[in-house]
Amino acid sequence: TAAQALAGYTGPATTRDGFAVAVLANVQDGAGARAAAAAHAEGVGLLRTELAFLGHAQEPSIEEQARGYAEVFEAFAGRKVVLRTLDAGSDKPLAFATLPDEANPALGVRGLRIARRDPGLLERQLDAVAEAARRTGSTPWVMAPMVATVAEAAGFAALVRDRALVPGVMIEVPSAALLAERLLDHVDFLSIGTNDLSQYTLAADRLSADLADLTDPWQPALLHLVWLTAQAGQRAGKPVGVCGEAAADPLLACVLVGLGITSLSCAASAVAGVGSRLALTDLDACRRAAEVALAAAHPHEARTAVRAVLAS
Ligand code: PEP
Ligand code: MG
Repeated sequence: TAAQALAGYTGPATTRDGFAVAVLANVQDGAGARAAAAAHAEGVGLLRTELAFLGHAQEPSIEEQARGYAEVFEAFAGRKVVLRTLDAGSDKPLAFATLPDEANPALGVRGLRIARRDPGLLERQLDAVAEAARRTGSTPWVMAPMVATVAEAAGFAALVRDRALVPGVMIEVPSAALLAERLLDHVDFLSIGTNDLSQYTLAADRLSADLADLTDPWQPALLHLVWLTAQAGQRAGKPVGVCGEAAADPLLACVLVGLGITSLSCAASAVAGVGSRLALTDLDACRRAAEVALAAAHPHEARTAVRAVLAS
């Protein structure tokens, strides 16, 4: 039964017919990474580096950053770790990186855009990542948040490759999803942040409870952009993951796999639920679930249709 599968989940995840899907964890520091390893996450799909520095008035030194990142790499030695560069601004303000008085912070200087005003901040962070990689003998993947253009992806990739790290970008803005194929000319992987991608696709604040029906990750428009992005990855032969809250919903995880997503990253507490649901589901059923979800007119219709497909 599903309950037995959940209790016994030890990873690595595959569909019932043996198709491998990496189920990774979203973490913010070494302690979180160790907890995720204990929860049988196969790696870290999203290290939210800014969360460790929310209370800091000053930029952390390269040494302080390197020590923190090394703890995470050590918890998953020899396994996959995807580190996100500082996503400062909007819902995650950092005193040393965020503009105080923007009229529209969600549309402002946030994510990778902070490097426009202060390129050194990004370069020092990448130096710290490279140093942590050297100390631990690991090769982390490094991605930028809030990328909107091909030029941003190309510029970021050059900085990351200079340090012998593996570059990728997050797909959180519709422009990036639409140009996924061209972003992949420059980077080695994509990771879809469904929290922000739904906010910007539906033009609805992710923090607004009144608009939660619009930012529902089952919105067919969001799923279409996921599908476009996954198809671009398949054509390029490069991995495309999902690291937003959508990946924590076991039913939606099946849909995402059916859309062509190759890894799912969610809270450590959700890893077993997602992995054990996939173990009960054939890849072909995931594909049929993806088809009915894309064809639905509303989130609730998508859920109902997917439940019916996966129950049969
Ligand atoms: C996202 O936007 O989906 C995401 C994973 O990043 P965050 O939630 O940290 O903005
Ligand atoms: Mg985001």
